[in-house]
Amino acid sequence: MIKTLQIGGLSFEVRRSDRRKTLGLTVGRAGELVAHAPAMTSTEELSRWINNKLLWVHGKLALKEEAAPKMLAPEYVSGESFCYLGRRFRLKMVERQKEPLLFDGTRFLLLRGACPAGDHFRNWYIQTGTDWLRRRTERLSQLAGSHASGVDVRELGYRWGSCGRKGILYFNWKILQLPVRLVDYVVLHELVHLRERNHGLAFWEALERALPDCQERKKVLAEKAKEYLVFGLSV
Ligand SMILES: [Zn+2]
Repeated sequence: MIKTLQIGGLSFEVRRSDRRKTLGLTVGRAGELVAHAPAMTSTEELSRWINNKLLWVHGKLALKEEAAPKMLAPEYVSGESFCYLGRRFRLKMVERQKEPLLFDGTRFLLLRGACPAGDHFRNWYIQTGTDWLRRRTERLSQLAGSHASGVDVRELGYRWGSCGRKGILYFNWKILQLPVRLVDYVVLHELVHLRERNHGLAFWEALERALPDCQERKKVLAEKAKEYLVFGLSV
């Protein structure tokens, strides 16, 4: 099992080794963080050490982000794929059709010259996904033991979801790219916030009661989400 440490909102994979004499940190090509430590290093000591390195880590990550978006932004060319609920669908550029963007059940069809293409995709995700997310939230309400008074899907910057006042839950339209089990984590997380506003012990206990493998899903969300995010979260 891979051991990870969550520090300052970042996830560090911990690799201990007998041969290792000093502590070290590496930032991988995709921004993955690995802490190397001698076998006997305690988690407390390692956490403290990483904590002192956070500024350096953030600097490194910022550099990678600067270089990455150009590579990751969709190009809107035939053959490119887009994810919906964890499934990949290919894009076909077409010369003529009534709507700028259509989905025929197996492919996305985008009218050449439809601009800006990203807006058409965002609208498609919101139109297609809002009803689905409402029904999903309703279904998961029983597990969470709390009911949302409304569910809204919109642009939320870098956040997956948020729990607004008056019991309304907001979800980032970009989560609709993720597999259902990861969307479920986000939905249940926000549903539990209706009862427990802060990320205290009571919050995590309630979430674990609703979703026993929530920690595992949280980890997968942090590490694997970007495989599905053709449209990344924006800061
Ligand atoms: Zn939260």
